[in-house]
Amino acid sequence: MIARLLFSLLCLGLLPAAHAATQPAMAEVSVPMKAIKVGTHSYFVQGLPGAASSANQGFMSNAGFVVTSDGVVVFDALASPPLAQKLVQVIRKITSQPIKRVIVSHYHADHYYGLQVFKALGAEIWAHRAGEGTTRSKDAAERFAQRKEALFPWVDETTRLLEADRYLAGDEDFEMGGVHFNLRYVGPAHSREDMVMMVKEDNVLYSGDLVFLGRIPFVGDADSRAWIASLDKLIEMKPRVLVPGHGGLTKSPKTDLVFTRDYLQFLRSQLGKSARNLIPFEKAYQSIDWSKYRKLPAFNEANRANAYNQYLRLEMETGL
Ligand SMILES: [Zn+2]
Repeated sequence: MIARLLFSLLCLGLLPAAHAATQPAMAEVSVPMKAIKVGTHSYFVQGLPGAASSANQGFMSNAGFVVTSDGVVVFDALASPPLAQKLVQVIRKITSQPIKRVIVSHYHADHYYGLQVFKALGAEIWAHRAGEGTTRSKDAAERFAQRKEALFPWVDETTRLLEADRYLAGDEDFEMGGVHFNLRYVGPAHSREDMVMMVKEDNVLYSGDLVFLGRIPFVGDADSRAWIASLDKLIEMKPRVLVPGHGGLTKSPKTDLVFTRDYLQFLRSQLGKSARNLIPFEKAYQSIDWSKYRKLPAFNEANRANAYNQYLRLEMETGL
């Protein structure tokens, strides 16, 4: 605790540092990170399982990058500046092309806290405009305080919560070095500003947190109807490979997308019926046949909370 306080004071410039460096050295992460190639131009790094903690040093989300002959496009910036710094090293092993653009899938801490590293390298940050101002919200301040505790020294007072340089009004296509990118707005689903990125030539889709593979997703009180529509949009894009925001990739995106969509539909149809018939939640939950989902990872952690939050949402939707 004392060490931490001293470190903070040092960073704030309140204590004289030895040879008073203007910029405190950034803490480093020791967690392993390697590039996984998923297409001719497309790569990603895969975070470790579990919530952000000192054990995984915050490396629990994925980030993608696409190498073109005219620069690199990065998809998401990981959960801290040191992790982003490590990602830059990983990219540098593959190419010396400048990192020109960072696309933020959505403004959750584990996907954007590393932005300042890319910004310092001259990259332009793009996000959907529904995320504008998120970094200045009360939620963001609370999350930042929590992360400074949980992920110190990798997240600290020198971590900056950066807004995008450019907010997109909707879908956008662009080309860089002969590679074509389709950015698609698919919110509000996991967040208001969800954006996915398709790399045309590689047929690789970076989906952010819209898709959770091989496990029960955390749905919470998300707008499940809109989420279902977004998943339908992804299914229509017919990707060859899908890289989610957490966990491993899938080479059978359709099956996985359909699975998540069907789970959301199952929640809605089962709980909607109960809400309309004024069956109390507990009774409704007990009477639903969950056998199709019970054996999947995160069922115990997520299913009941998903069901409860969706029950409340459906009550609201049916005007009860
Ligand atoms: Zn998220």
